[in-house]
Amino acid sequence: MANIAFIGLGIMGKPMAANLIKAGHTLFIYDVVKAPVAELTAKGATACASAKEAAEKSEVVVLMLPDTPDVEAAIFGENGVASGVRPGSIVVDMSSISPIATRRFAERLAANGAEMLDAPVSGGQIGAENATLSIMVGGKAEVFERVKPLFEVMGKNIVRIGGAGDGQTCKVANQIVVALTIEAVSEALVFASKAGADVAKVREALLGGFAQSKILEVHGQRMIDRNFQPGFRVRLHQKDLNLALQAGRELGVPLPNTASVQQLLTALVAEKGADLDHSAIVQVIEKMAAHAIGKAKK
Ligand code: NAD
Repeated sequence: MANIAFIGLGIMGKPMAANLIKAGHTLFIYDVVKAPVAELTAKGATACASAKEAAEKSEVVVLMLPDTPDVEAAIFGENGVASGVRPGSIVVDMSSISPIATRRFAERLAANGAEMLDAPVSGGQIGAENATLSIMVGGKAEVFERVKPLFEVMGKNIVRIGGAGDGQTCKVANQIVVALTIEAVSEALVFASKAGADVAKVREALLGGFAQSKILEVHGQRMIDRNFQPGFRVRLHQKDLNLALQAGRELGVPLPNTASVQQLLTALVAEKGADLDHSAIVQVIEKMAAHAIGKAKK
């Protein structure tokens, strides 16, 4: 059993930390918001006053924060992980952030004698709660082997992609597929609905053919139910597509459909939708079509 610091206890981090507690590990937790900290201390975790304090008490430090600047602040800011981390400790960043910044962070932590893995996840809140996340890891093979038992408490499909930053590169690729698939499902359901078909039955039929996908299943149902509570916030998916478009520009890889879905997300944010679930992309398509799919007809 390990002493683990867990920093960032939001939609994803809170259930992931809860699964580590359930497996018998000792958790030292920190978040700038107090409510999830209180929930997890009731389950046996120890609350810390800073990321530094949590790192001082642990041999593995897990981060699950929104964006690149948040991770940089939590590691290298005042009272951050880097000022408390023990030599030989492993920092495991499970947030989805920039692959380029990740490589820089790994080098800076090495100067403190600490190892780093990038280990972003896919599978959403449900995957975090049920410990069925897909985990994409970048970093040294021997460090990955040491942390693997902890990954197995939080996820199911655990793959080491390669060296530092490669886990984040894989996650960016994942987010391209997810965004474009949500947009495709949105177009298909709005089209079918405005043509007069029952969208619930359309979804059911498509789930049995080549158009089937997890997105059609989960996000398609959300669109029909008008359930846009996050889930995965629009602002976070915008962040991920920005990472894709920036890297695409640097690498000389055109991402034309990623760019257009990013514009739809921008439209959603302009309509105050930044904190809706990303399945709300359907609302932009509905607006353009002057037709809302609404509840399924019986
Ligand atoms: P969230 O906004 O619900 O949670 C983030 C938490 O980090 C919040 O509790 C916030 O208070 C805390 N925080 C921010 N800055 C901090 C700091 N400096 N120190 C301590 N705590 C700080 O976000 P989330 O949905 O849990 O997502 C976290 C990461 O996981 C993101 O990078 C996201 O892209 C990724 N992700 C999310 C999902 C999903 O479905 N929600 C799925 C896969 C990956």
